Amino acid sequence: MICDTNGCESDACMHLSSVDNRHVVESRSLCDLHASVFLGTIDKASILPSVLPAELQFFLYLMVLNQNSAISHFYLRSADGSARIVLGSGYIEHANIATLLATQTLTRPPTHQVLVNTITSLGGTLDKIIITNYNYDTGVIESELRIKSNHTKSNLTIDIRPSDSIALAILTDMPIMVSEVALRKLVAKEVVDRESERKLGGS
Ligand SMILES: [Zn+2]
Repeated sequence: MICDTNGCESDACMHLSSVDNRHVVESRSLCDLHASVFLGTIDKASILPSVLPAELQFFLYLMVLNQNSAISHFYLRSADGSARIVLGSGYIEHANIATLLATQTLTRPPTHQVLVNTITSLGGTLDKIIITNYNYDTGVIESELRIKSNHTKSNLTIDIRPSDSIALAILTDMPIMVSEVALRKLVAKEVVDRESERKLGGS
């Protein structure tokens, strides 16, 4: 497959899907160079105000799969568009979420739907999907499901990977909440990552 850009004959190793309201609205396959150019036009790093709410709502708006490395990046934007975060994942997670976005009626329930059905069947209500923290030492982005038990009226917290959080948010039409502390750390991490890339690139 060659790059979608007119006149470019390079291999299209980057597959970009723009997402709006849980649907893929545009897909393009681009070479490394033109993917960078495209991302440069639509993707602006966050500049956070000094005062933020304790939690903000985020929604998936772009997925980028690098076919060569099998690394996927999920781009999430805050509801007011002022902040965005990028979560890295793998090919399988990308394929799972692409399937959920593409297909509204599957004959059998996909795995994440089974999780939602199980919560409901056990008398729970999924109350919140939240990214709570970024651990600098381990590189782990910590996220949780918050579930209310309708039987015991108690609240349960379940550890979950961020990519699974995205899948559940798509299935349940819920936002992904991001805590202020996680948002500030993820934005700071990205600044450091970009600085490292710049130094490695020698520019
Ligand atoms: Zn190209």
